[in-house]
Amino acid sequence: MVAQIVRETVDLGNYTLTRVMRQLDGACGWLSMDGCPIIREICDSGVRGGGIRELGNSARELHLYEEGKGKTTAPVISNHDFVVCKIFVGAALAHDFHDFAFAAHRQVPESSLVLELLFLCCYCWRQVRGVKASSDRIEDQEQLYIMGELEIEKHAQYINNLEKKKDFESMVMEHLRMSGAYWGLTTLDLMGKIEDVDQEVVVSWVLQCQHDCGGFSGNVGHDPHILYTLSAVQILALLDKLDVIDADKIASYIMGLQQEDGSFAGDEWGEIDTRFSYCAICCLSILHRLDKIDVGKATQYIASCKNFDGGFGCTPGGESHAGQIFCCVGALAISGALTHVDRDLLGWWLCEREVKTGGLNGRPEKLADVCYSWWVLSSLIMIDRVHWISKEKLKNFILDCQDREHGGISDRPDDAVDVFHTFFGVAGLSFLEYPGLKPIDPAYALPVHVVDRIFFGKPHKQ
Ligand SMILES: [Zn+2]
Repeated sequence: MVAQIVRETVDLGNYTLTRVMRQLDGACGWLSMDGCPIIREICDSGVRGGGIRELGNSARELHLYEEGKGKTTAPVISNHDFVVCKIFVGAALAHDFHDFAFAAHRQVPESSLVLELLFLCCYCWRQVRGVKASSDRIEDQEQLYIMGELEIEKHAQYINNLEKKKDFESMVMEHLRMSGAYWGLTTLDLMGKIEDVDQEVVVSWVLQCQHDCGGFSGNVGHDPHILYTLSAVQILALLDKLDVIDADKIASYIMGLQQEDGSFAGDEWGEIDTRFSYCAICCLSILHRLDKIDVGKATQYIASCKNFDGGFGCTPGGESHAGQIFCCVGALAISGALTHVDRDLLGWWLCEREVKTGGLNGRPEKLADVCYSWWVLSSLIMIDRVHWISKEKLKNFILDCQDREHGGISDRPDDAVDVFHTFFGVAGLSFLEYPGLKPIDPAYALPVHVVDRIFFGKPHKQ
């Protein structure tokens, strides 16, 4: 079946917006930010290489992002008559920055009140979305925002109980217990619940999984692999215990896995995959040992796995897949080589992963799955295109996948929960600025405060 692409232009008075919609499943996205003259004006005036990225639900402010500088402080004022200060949370529900920028630019005098901004924003939003103006629409949206509740206590309990029960599920998971521990512990930290964990026990178990070669296995008595080596290092970083390991030993294990063409093997058996390139680069970066490998060759190899659709595969010529794209974009972001990415082309492919339910899939024609909230969102954030998808709908899709009684999150509504999807669901909600969750770093897949501690040495726990 060929997806029919419908182009639609929306006349906003002085400007025309172009919207592109895929008819097959109703997935839609903006053709390009550059299609919006206001955005272009902003990018051209003082804010180099960045642009508007996100309207924070929690911050309720408009931010601009600058390459290399991160979030600028609000309020943002550019050097024309586009002046925006604080806005009401309802405005965040307008999803699309264009609408807001248009409203502000065209109709709001400099000293406008917050509520006027909200009104205009939603008015414009209706025009662009083709929704008929009706006063109940805003309330609907606000209610959605308040209604969808994350069952933080239940999920924390679910994760803590996983360790205690020795049933079939935990036996199946035994060989990848290291990754399970990383998913569970990171989820607890994002929810502010990691203090309940006996950290000493975790650290001593992690250390028992290290082998003489420097690599870590998924559990005691299993073979070492780069996947579990990264998980082990991430766990120790999370618990602020990186000083208990010999970083050089781990670095030499990873060095030994790099191949002549720059790629990485997962272990001594030699399977090659861009996932392992990500593991190598992320792990060494956390350990401050990135100079131990040939980063140039490593990024060249990743670039050679890029496809015509802007995505990446596991080896050259391999089909684009959202999980693989996260690995490649993440590795390139960490090594400062995002120039290999065609942001608009890839952004378009990624935002097409949005399906009617609001969830995201990993490849065309596949079902939506909570874990893609992570793979797709993190990639979109890294390439600065996250505003191309509908955040509210995705938030509700993830919240619908919770087991509200026993805790945990599943791949899609009413399926069985597992720790993997619980992590990706909570991490996805963190990207969506769900209230009460700590922010997570899209490249390192660790809470932002942990990444800050690794690279800026602040603030340490006593
Ligand atoms: Zn999944």
